[in-house]
Amino acid sequence: MNRGRYLLIGGFAAAVVSVFFTSQMEAQPNSVQQIVPGVWFREGDIKKEGHCNNIIIEMKDYLIVVDANFPSGARLAAADAKKLSRKPVKYVFDTHHHGDHAYGNAVWTQMGATTLAYVGVAQEMKRYEPKRWQTANRKDVSELNAKTVEPPKQTFETTPFVIDDGTRRVEFHFFGWAHTRGDGFVYLPREQVLITGDAIVNGAYNYMGDGHVANWPKVAEAAGKRAIKHVLPAHGRPGGMEIVTGQAKFMREIYAGVQGLIKSGKSVDDVQKMGMAKSLEAALRFSPQSQNWVGDGLGGQAVATYEEITQKKPHGEIEGGK
Ligand SMILES: [Zn+2]
Repeated sequence: MNRGRYLLIGGFAAAVVSVFFTSQMEAQPNSVQQIVPGVWFREGDIKKEGHCNNIIIEMKDYLIVVDANFPSGARLAAADAKKLSRKPVKYVFDTHHHGDHAYGNAVWTQMGATTLAYVGVAQEMKRYEPKRWQTANRKDVSELNAKTVEPPKQTFETTPFVIDDGTRRVEFHFFGWAHTRGDGFVYLPREQVLITGDAIVNGAYNYMGDGHVANWPKVAEAAGKRAIKHVLPAHGRPGGMEIVTGQAKFMREIYAGVQGLIKSGKSVDDVQKMGMAKSLEAALRFSPQSQNWVGDGLGGQAVATYEEITQKKPHGEIEGGK
């Protein structure tokens, strides 16, 4: 066998694989893509604007938008919804209380929409606001001239909360505390579409400051227990069931990995230093299926996990949050 030629072929194959992966994973900020007829995925510009993704769902007489986004993201999503359909936006569903998902609420209600959320979202806002709103340090937030976030106008406690107008059934679910205490999911049973907020993301976007690391994989797995063809996360590109299983796996692995570091006598400062020195990733021994979730935030995620384990309570229960 000609070794040189073999290497060349190997190199070519690697190049093909990497092109395939980058075309799959590459961000396409501000693009709108139809997932199934009447369901669109709008990718937010997270890098430059901090925006989340929006999902636009067409009903018989109106549209439902998933996530309010930041105020500037709300305006972009509303403008794109107008291009897609002449129907008005009737409901905007906040998947959770974070600014990039809910601070645009007032923008949508001023346009005549009703903001909607699982009751846990309003409770999280009471817990953390107005402090976060007042320190958001964003032009689009301060320009609203409001003292705090506008809470969702309509909340529900019993899940699934269902909207079915005969043309489409939209289910709003709560599966427990993962990313926040209010994580709402949207499921379209006929189209087999699962919309996940930040509880399941596609890429290294997991913020764990308000989270419950130990419970997180259980929530992802509960959400995954239905027929699913399309998974639409609030950050990262659309995917399939591999995002659900990968997210659960990553959460289990970071928890087990940090538990191992604690047992070996590492302090929380050690873990933080390992995060800064980039030696943490190797120490936590992630499987290939979890790599998609491993990124720059790993140090902070490991510290949140460390505190959750040693203080024997969900991280979001820690005084004042983080
Ligand atoms: Zn979030």
